[in-house]
Amino acid sequence: MHSWIPLLACTNCRQALALDANDLSQEQNHCPHCNTPFQQHAGMFRFIDTNHDTQQLLKSTEGSLMDAGYRRPNRFMQQLRRVISSEYFPGKSWRLAKAAVIDQTDLKLIIGSGVTRYPAAVHLDIDDFPGVDVVADAHQLPFRDNSFAGVVCEVVLEHVRDPHRVIAEAFRTLKPGGSAFFIAPFLFPYHGHPADFSRWTHEGLATAFSRFEAVTVGIHAGPCSAMVNLLSEWGYVLSGLRYPRGYTLIKGGLTALLFPIKYADALVTRFPEAKRLASTLYVTARKPK
Ligand SMILES: [Zn+2]
Repeated sequence: MHSWIPLLACTNCRQALALDANDLSQEQNHCPHCNTPFQQHAGMFRFIDTNHDTQQLLKSTEGSLMDAGYRRPNRFMQQLRRVISSEYFPGKSWRLAKAAVIDQTDLKLIIGSGVTRYPAAVHLDIDDFPGVDVVADAHQLPFRDNSFAGVVCEVVLEHVRDPHRVIAEAFRTLKPGGSAFFIAPFLFPYHGHPADFSRWTHEGLATAFSRFEAVTVGIHAGPCSAMVNLLSEWGYVLSGLRYPRGYTLIKGGLTALLFPIKYADALVTRFPEAKRLASTLYVTARKPK
């Protein structure tokens, strides 16, 4: 069974749950120290119940569309959106930074994994989307201190109520010397997946990771991606139409017209002032030994 089960800790008292990875017959469980309940089914653990605020957010219009997209993906639309979208990620630097965390063979934690799967990783999200190992709140990670060689968190910070606490939880659960790779949006329209609370400048991100060392902030998607995204969203807002039908029509139509502009980022992201208008930024950082 999963090698990471001994790393699980109570979200309330933070003490080890001391589960037997070879005996997962019990579905209703309690912390042996403080009695906080959690569930387990076929090796998937759940630390948040149906009353948790994240579960309510998943019932919003945009939240339920995100949920449906994860559970019943439209493969044709997925392929189409690889080209006809505002996002283009030309940089080598963020790919190398991510590979340095993802390609290591030691165990990684993926916070807000959605349906993405990485090798040698624990996939955590707010519901049991396909591929999720642990359903939990990123503000209270159900893992012991110093558990992971890497933590990855891609475009999730804007969706949590207290991003600084989530970064602190990444720090706590990383092993000394372990690496974090985060992506966060700067100039990016509101998107309720299932809710949207914040945006980040490069300075704001660097400051949020000040407890770490070797902090690098760079461009993930650049100024031309940002302009395609903002112009098509502007057109949608000016149309006066409503989400989701009006959005699909106007945002989708304008993106189909404007998307070639994003490829200029192959050049523009290398310009010295590109961070001033970046669409999304990445951070790499290391927990001191
Ligand atoms: Zn406990």
